Amino acid sequence: MSLHGAYDPDNIFAKILRGDIPSVTVWQDDHVLAFMDVFPQSEGHVLVIDKASTARNLLEIEPEALSRLALAVQRTARAVEKALKPEGVSILQFNGEAGGQTVFHLHFHVVPRWSGRELKGHGHAPMADTAALKALAERIAAQLD
Ligand code: 5GP
Repeated sequence: MSLHGAYDPDNIFAKILRGDIPSVTVWQDDHVLAFMDVFPQSEGHVLVIDKASTARNLLEIEPEALSRLALAVQRTARAVEKALKPEGVSILQFNGEAGGQTVFHLHFHVVPRWSGRELKGHGHAPMADTAALKALAERIAAQLD
C-alpha cells in the first residue's frame, strides 16, 4: 500500500466505526474515537482515530481533523499517564506500508512506556484478553479531563 490511493471502506477501523466488528472504547465524541489496540505493544496501548475523515495517512488529513486528533491524542495521553503511571508515553504514527502502517485509516498510537519493559513488536504482539482491555479502558476513561 503506497502513500497514495483510494480509501478502503472495508479497512478494520472503518468496520469498527460502523460497529461491524467489536472494539473496546476508551472515549469518543462526535469526531474522534479512542479505543484499545487489540495487539498492544505495551499495557494500555490506545489508538485514536477520526470518525469521518477518509484520510489514509497524515499526508492526506484535513487540517481541522488533524487539529482535533492532536488534541484527542493529548487528552488520551494525559488520562493514560494518570491512570497507569507510566514513566514515558510514546506517540506513534505510521504512513504507508514501507513506513510501517498496516491499517490504512489514519491513526495515532498512544503507548505507555516503562524503563525495563521492552516494547512488543509493532504488528507482532499477542492478542489481548477483552476483559483485560475493558478494565484498562475503564481505568483510563476515569482519568479523562
Ligand atoms: P499501524 O500498523 O497501521 O500503525 O497500526 C494498526 C494497529 O491496529 C496495530 O497496532 C494493530 O495492533 C491494531 N489492530 C489491528 N487489528 C485490530 C483490530 O481488529 N482491533 C483493534 N482494536 N486493533 C487492531
